[in-house]
Amino acid sequence: MECIIEKKCSFLKSVFNYNDLPKEDLKEIAFWGRSNVGKSTLLNAIIKSNIAKTSKTPGRTQSLNFFEIPYKIRFVDLPGYGYSKVSKAKIKQWNNLIIEYLAKRKNLNSIFLLIDSRHGIKNIDLDAINILESFGNHFFVVLTKIDKVDKSHLDNCLESIKELINKIVSGDNEIFTTSYTKKQGIKNLKNKIVRIIQK
Ligand code: GDP
Repeated sequence: MECIIEKKCSFLKSVFNYNDLPKEDLKEIAFWGRSNVGKSTLLNAIIKSNIAKTSKTPGRTQSLNFFEIPYKIRFVDLPGYGYSKVSKAKIKQWNNLIIEYLAKRKNLNSIFLLIDSRHGIKNIDLDAINILESFGNHFFVVLTKIDKVDKSHLDNCLESIKELINKIVSGDNEIFTTSYTKKQGIKNLKNKIVRIIQK
């Protein structure tokens, strides 16, 4: 099943202005989260490629980056939030483009919201969740870097996230856990994506 995702995923474009977004002709899955949460690494792992830039300089990417498997799915790498060491002009936590994209994009199927399992949900993640909820966006939490925490920490983290999310969101709130270094959880995410493609 997974080979659908691994085949022929290529970089489509980086977008800085709403009018430059690709046509709304293909389902999109967006990846979002705090800077340095492991977004590019996870995206690369999912598509078995190195095309999503991983960067040691958090907060640098301010564009929406589109990757596409033709006729199947588009992945959207949204700018990370919550990094405060870049210049003030750049750090409006969510620029208008992200908000407009999340509010209006008709072909946006769901958002994978990445949370670093070491830190759990921060206030800024809650803000992000509230934004998604206010626009009626369907999202899933993905806890990253689980190789860095022990089982009891992970269990507590999962529990508190479930509790927090249940207060805000109703319905199905699957939570995924991943480790790039230990190659854990990637397959589950790929299967989820395949289900979205086939739905
Ligand atoms: P982004 O800013 O969210 O795109 O984050 P990156 O993908 O650039 O990753 C930030 C840092 O976290 C890099 O040094 C990665 O190697 C590291 N990283 C990403 N995923 C994992 C993981 O699952 N486990 C560990 N231990 N490190 C990870």
